[in-house]
Amino acid sequence: MASRHGVELDQDQFCCSVCLDLLKEPVTIYCGHSYCRGCIEGCWDQEEEKGEFSCPQCRETFIPRPVLRRNNMLAEVSSDICA
Ligand SMILES: [Zn+2]
Ligand SMILES: [Zn+2]
Repeated sequence: MASRHGVELDQDQFCCSVCLDLLKEPVTIYCGHSYCRGCIEGCWDQEEEKGEFSCPQCRETFIPRPVLRRNNMLAEVSSDICA
């Protein structure tokens, strides 16, 4: 199946492993995993008192709390899938 984006799209790439839904406001963290902004912020809010923040998928830890940047590529593609 050819993608109109010209890249092989893996549906999993657009699913958040926290809410198991399509990414809403996708952000990609340093380990390369992507989450909805709200989901990862929620996870990290709970880890705030430990002072270290981990990726729910690969458990890589980040200190201090990473700044989240919107992943424009994923945002564009996932809004395409939703449409
Ligand atoms: Zn999510
Ligand atoms: Zn990760």
